[in-house]
Amino acid sequence: MRQSELFTKTLKEAPREEEAVNARLLAQAGFVDKTMAGVYSFLPLGLRVLKNVERIVREEMTCIGGEEILMPSLQPKANWQTTGRWETVDDLFKFTSFYSRSDLVLGGTHEEIIAPLVKKFLLSYRDLPRAIFQIQTKFRDEKRPKSGLLRGREFVMKDLYSFHENEADLDRYYEKAKRAYQKIFRRAGIAKKTYLTYASGGTFSQYSHEFQTITPAGEDTIFICSGCRVAINKEIAGSDPACPVCGRKELDSQNTIEVGNIFKLKDKFSKPFGLRFKTAEGEEKDVLMGCYGLGLNRLIGTIVEVSHDDRGIIWPESVAPFRFHLLEFKKGIGQALYRKLTSSGASVLYDDRAVSAGEKFADADLIGLPWRIVVSEKTGSKMEVKSRKSKKSQLVNYDFIRKLG
Ligand code: ATP
Ligand code: MG
Repeated sequence: MRQSELFTKTLKEAPREEEAVNARLLAQAGFVDKTMAGVYSFLPLGLRVLKNVERIVREEMTCIGGEEILMPSLQPKANWQTTGRWETVDDLFKFTSFYSRSDLVLGGTHEEIIAPLVKKFLLSYRDLPRAIFQIQTKFRDEKRPKSGLLRGREFVMKDLYSFHENEADLDRYYEKAKRAYQKIFRRAGIAKKTYLTYASGGTFSQYSHEFQTITPAGEDTIFICSGCRVAINKEIAGSDPACPVCGRKELDSQNTIEVGNIFKLKDKFSKPFGLRFKTAEGEEKDVLMGCYGLGLNRLIGTIVEVSHDDRGIIWPESVAPFRFHLLEFKKGIGQALYRKLTSSGASVLYDDRAVSAGEKFADADLIGLPWRIVVSEKTGSKMEVKSRKSKKSQLVNYDFIRKLG
């Protein structure tokens, strides 16, 4: 894409009111625009990142047998009364339809929709197990939506729900989902800073598991056991935290953000909706459920929190909006290379704007694409290439660049 054709531009400065690094960099570099607290537009560059993250998450969910659907954001009050959560969920957006006078919910999660939905199709043990997911916008009336993409009042979440005939099968699938999450975080480049964290299991299980990433912007505190490479959330650790796996007490306390959460719901939602199945012996039993959430906006915000420097974002190759940032220092001198690269399938942002070299360099660092290529009168038939992660550039020929992308 030609940078001159982007309708958005980088900003001279980060928006003053934004405190979180992810919000400052993503807004300044032109990935997102804030409409109001906790509500953002994704601009062309930002949407490409969102689609990349979505692709990774979708691939891994499909890999563990997930079937994709799309459930509604508008939900009836009755479903939330069935589970008792109409009264208890404090961040639920509720409102009344003008014409029908019915009370509605703007969905912040979808157990209240998926359980009665699956009930319509699930009859016997032969229909189990099942895993169903969606990637969809959630609404939550957050008290403090102040950390950019980390905490929105409107945000994209992947939520998967699994359905099982017994606990052994739920446990087996839960472990599989855990591994899929770890794979997502490896692919998104945050695995090194992300810890499987033991958290509250609610009324039904001893633990649930969160995936917590170390960042000063995080609102959670976890205690990490370096031996087991797991952590325990402060919320359940009490005054004398110990590793939930090995019992060790020398733990490292860190500020973190929860990027994902997996939870054994068991019969919490099947019971109120009467989601039952017939066993091989003809007996009726409650279906057991698991739920697996992952915030896409939050994942993007987390990537920026862990991968940036004082000049801008450093995108991992897997989610970068483009692989190459081609800068030309004389009008039109990069055109032939741009055509050659794009026709060979490489993704390129071509800075063909009539602005100074200094401005192009600064924008390239701010936007943070993995490879910067410079062509000028000085580089001749060669090009200067530099990884966003390193300080050194090198003069190379076309073949070298082709191999990068
Ligand atoms: P938190 O404790 O941070 O509020 P939560 O426990 O409410 O999170 P879940 O209900 O488990 O979160 O939601 C699943 C996932 O959705 C989270 O792991 C997180 O990645 C994401 N998420 C939750 N709330 C938000 C939000 N306000 N903005 C962006 N992502 C969110
Ligand atoms: Mg919450």
